[in-house]
Amino acid sequence: MKKHLYLLALSIVTSLLLTSCNNNNISNSTDKPQNVILLIGDGMSTTQICSAMLAMDKNTIFEQFSVSGLVKTRSKSHKITDSAAGGTAIATGHKTNNGMIGMNSDSIPVPSILEILSDQGLKTGVIATSYITHATPASFVAKNINRNKYEEIANDFANCEKVDLLIGGGRKHFNKRSDSLNLIEKMQNNGWHYYDTLINIDSNLEKIFILADENHLPAYPQRGNFLPEATSLALKNLENKNGFFLMVEGSQIDFACHNNDSTYLVNEMIDFDNTIKVALDYAKVNKNTLVIVTADHETGGLSIVDPEGRYTKTDLHFSTGSHSPLLVPIFAFGPGANNFTGIMDNTDIMKKIISIM
Ligand code: MG
Ligand code: ZN
Repeated sequence: MKKHLYLLALSIVTSLLLTSCNNNNISNSTDKPQNVILLIGDGMSTTQICSAMLAMDKNTIFEQFSVSGLVKTRSKSHKITDSAAGGTAIATGHKTNNGMIGMNSDSIPVPSILEILSDQGLKTGVIATSYITHATPASFVAKNINRNKYEEIANDFANCEKVDLLIGGGRKHFNKRSDSLNLIEKMQNNGWHYYDTLINIDSNLEKIFILADENHLPAYPQRGNFLPEATSLALKNLENKNGFFLMVEGSQIDFACHNNDSTYLVNEMIDFDNTIKVALDYAKVNKNTLVIVTADHETGGLSIVDPEGRYTKTDLHFSTGSHSPLLVPIFAFGPGANNFTGIMDNTDIMKKIISIM
């Protein structure tokens, strides 16, 4: 019975998502985007979005996207991916083994979309509410066979010449290291403007680097509007005549689902919704901007049921403390958005973006 309700709820949500996203227009598949904003909700599939729809007393931002589709998430090594292989697939277009960052399954480093677009003259940025060295943001900048080698991954961030803006947590991997190096000082010597808070930053500075916590940032709402404000700062900072690529991660949707914590999940989804709104509002004004929202995998095997079967109230139920193999949604808005419909592989996302730039 429980399984039956879960499947029913899933099919209703999926069909709602696929039919409710056609009322906005704007996208024109023949147009080339100059700017790309890629937002990744770590661990977010349709049930996580539905939990926000049910909890928020207004329409979610997802309903304003002109195009939606679905993404297959398995990794090279496993039917259920982790965030390293999932992030690497989205960032580089290569399937790899769970645990690996920025490398293919033969352990060969491969370029990320951030690096490719930087080489084409775009400015680039990465934002997360986890360690900046955590798997998802690391997949765009670092190369490592082991996602847990945080200090090595921090070296890659410090040495990367292809990124212009970094905002997140994980300060300890830069200045409290087993090798006693201070990568923050090293980066400052290389022209980076470093801050430990988002407050009062001059958005006109080149090379902004903000590590706002030793560890992961606090959960929402304890961290305030950090993610939407960081996104707003990044859009001001990165805007230039050659265009930009910005990756923004709702990192802690995944943490909430690992914890099977419904309140934490809904709060993180509200924060991610607010963050997507910043990106979408920018793209509505700056029509050369493509906004993509997707996920690396689902976390928690989340279902939404009424335990009394009356369909009058909703309970969130997690079936695992780990990841699941569910399809995840992708939403697109702006020039080229029409390319992101149907069912695609996670490795197709960056290939599609590169092909329309
Ligand atoms: Mg992540
Ligand atoms: Zn996870």
